[in-house]
Amino acid sequence: MSQEPHPSADVRMRGFAARVSVEMALQWVDAHSSPLGREDVSLPNACRRVLAAPVTAPLDVPSFDRSAMDGYALRGSETHGAGDYNPLPFRVIGEALPAKPFSGEVLPGTTVRIMTGAPVPAGADAVVPAEFTREADGFVEITTAVPPLKNIGRRGEDIRTGTTVLEAGRRLRPQDLGLAASLGFDHVSVVRRPRVRLIITGNELVEPGIPRVAYQIYESNSFMLAALIARDNGTVESIRRLSDEREAIRQALREAGADVILVSGGSSVGTEDHAPLLVAVEGTLAIHGVAMRPSSPAGMGTIGATLVFLLPGNPVSCLCAYDFFAGRALRRLGGGCAAWPYPLRRVILGRKLVSEVGRVDYCRIRIDGDRAEPLAVSGASILSSTTRANGFVVVPAESEGYAAGTEVDAFLYDQGV
Ligand code: AMP
Ligand code: MG
Repeated sequence: MSQEPHPSADVRMRGFAARVSVEMALQWVDAHSSPLGREDVSLPNACRRVLAAPVTAPLDVPSFDRSAMDGYALRGSETHGAGDYNPLPFRVIGEALPAKPFSGEVLPGTTVRIMTGAPVPAGADAVVPAEFTREADGFVEITTAVPPLKNIGRRGEDIRTGTTVLEAGRRLRPQDLGLAASLGFDHVSVVRRPRVRLIITGNELVEPGIPRVAYQIYESNSFMLAALIARDNGTVESIRRLSDEREAIRQALREAGADVILVSGGSSVGTEDHAPLLVAVEGTLAIHGVAMRPSSPAGMGTIGATLVFLLPGNPVSCLCAYDFFAGRALRRLGGGCAAWPYPLRRVILGRKLVSEVGRVDYCRIRIDGDRAEPLAVSGASILSSTTRANGFVVVPAESEGYAAGTEVDAFLYDQGV
């Protein structure tokens, strides 16, 4: 049996004695989230994954001199002086197609009909594009001069054997998969994605799709969180929807199988708020109460090797606490970049934004052109404020807020605003 912690760890119905700064909470996150191990994934599953090991070319690309044009392969020096008024004839001795090389040699005065991608035959060093040629009766007339190497892709000109083409830590783009495939790889080594368990608590919650009785509310945080986890390259290990029942929550916290546990609801100091004490009993509750608005009842800690984030149930707080702390941990665990995946833009505030020194504020705004209106209704329970908003401004701890007309950095929920 686990030991119960010292009674001072139980903040229920007492309130927070002191709140930790956002900066310290972020430091805790960074200290507890380094990239997980690696796994091999097939290329079709590798897009947007983070490379765990560099990709090094095992061959030259192209691996032979090849034609970059449909036309005629010949000795470039022999085309000197060719033009519309001086067509030069060459005898056509064969054809080269992709993967079907011409086996003979191009001798002076001769040429080989060649298609794009076909190996350049021995003896030839240039290709005359088809539009500068006229072929009849076993001969072709050339009406343009091509210097040696013209219209030929040289062996290794794209990639040389041994070159590192993709560095570890890179988030793979579609074209990176193409590149890896062009080098013959069907798998790549990527950082494992964090497995995230969602523990959704609240006696009052009912799943959407199920008829609601009086005073029940529809559970919405799991849907938002699952989408955020996917965005941050995590996978949802399981969703446990539980009532505010201490032993059930304890069980869900204890079970192995997750790298990260997000607890929604019950993170504060109410009589039904079991999670903070449970984390303290089962592991370490490193932080409980953060100097920010919304999300001040957020918490974080560890149970064994599992990171646990306590997210207030109020939907806006839940989003904000996820975005500040849990999302950052997921991105780091997955080998990605800690920074927010929100584009930044300078905007001019249409109204003042009030904050308090010592507290970080997450203020939803509606951006229109280069102006931003803070949303008047900004309580932590007003989820629609996050959908009416198209971005947010973070007022740092040292600031009392901004006057109307101030130019500030805004984070956009989406690229397009
Ligand atoms: P709590 O953090 O548990 O004190 O919850 C604060 C508020 O958020 C209460 O009004 C809850 O009903 C609401 N809430 C808690 N969990 C959820 C959830 N999963 N979805 C929607 N609302 C929630
Ligand atoms: Mg609750």
